[in-house]
Amino acid sequence: MNIDLLKRLCETPGVPGREERVRTVIEKEVKGLFDEVYTDPMGSLVCRREPRGGKGEGKKKGAGKEATRVVLLCHMDEIGFYVRHIDDNGFVRVQNAGGFDTRNLFARRVKVCTRKHGDLSGAMNPGGRPIHIATDEDKKKIPEIKEFMIDMGMSGDEVRKRVTVGDMVVLDEPFLEMGGKFVSKALDNRAACWAGVESVRAIDKAGTAHACQINVVFTVQEEVGLRGARTSAHAIRPHIAIGVDTTLACDTPGVPDDEAVSRHGQGAVLGVMDGSMIADHTLVDELEAAAKKNKIATQRSILPRGGQDGGAAQLAAEGCRAAAVLLGVRNIHTVTEMVDQKDAKAYVDLLAAWLPTVS
Ligand SMILES: [Zn+2]
Repeated sequence: MNIDLLKRLCETPGVPGREERVRTVIEKEVKGLFDEVYTDPMGSLVCRREPRGGKGEGKKKGAGKEATRVVLLCHMDEIGFYVRHIDDNGFVRVQNAGGFDTRNLFARRVKVCTRKHGDLSGAMNPGGRPIHIATDEDKKKIPEIKEFMIDMGMSGDEVRKRVTVGDMVVLDEPFLEMGGKFVSKALDNRAACWAGVESVRAIDKAGTAHACQINVVFTVQEEVGLRGARTSAHAIRPHIAIGVDTTLACDTPGVPDDEAVSRHGQGAVLGVMDGSMIADHTLVDELEAAAKKNKIATQRSILPRGGQDGGAAQLAAEGCRAAAVLLGVRNIHTVTEMVDQKDAKAYVDLLAAWLPTVS
């Protein structure tokens, strides 16, 4: 497993609308794997690989036009913030881009990514009294995003010299390997960006033939409503779209067994239905068959609320067959997002095994 790439992807800041640094990392990694790589008007990175014959045969002549167009959609954005206001004392207020549970946002280190002064550190907390002097009422309160402020250790004038309304802010935590798991603030969805690169790299390295045209699109602005996937799918007009993303793994204390959504250690997750999409059931069967043939563990899952890019692609242009290949994440949308290493391997292996089976 290329853990170094996963770590670099997770530690690169990129909130919805500001994915350019993540895109640069990916652009370097995909060199030589695709026949065409370009950035579309919204900022998604589109990577197209024409059908290939077996080892040594190279690119198939005249292929591509009639070939089945498959698209893997891997969103590059992580949930984060934009600077909304700087007050006279230098406290920075933010607007969230993506869904945060504010209960997980107390006492966070952040990076304020400025235009000309680099990435500056800050400490984020909600306004209010600390435990020693808090009232019973204070202790029960769950603050809203607008009540949080970032202290950058500088006066209002000093902050204003460096920070501009609209600068992106990300949570600041290093990537960790821990037991049999990976932990990071942005496994949703850099794990999928990693899988999008590594699965095609595996096909390329093995010289495996594939009859379909493989498009891997690293999309923008998924966390604010599957926006980049909508336009890129419209342009590509895929026959088959796979939302490659993460999902919940609530196999932890405090959640009833039937609400786990997915479980660590049980393999890659095949999304049957979520808030954005009902998967093509024959496509789910085909993914499952490819996994079985290659002894790759998979589990099926239904997510009552929330979605992924496959839902946008399914409805683009005349529509297409769509499914979701997901990785179960514990503590999703927190700085302790956690995935199982064996599941992560199954996730990459499944994509690499299934793509060559598409005729
Ligand atoms: Zn996601």
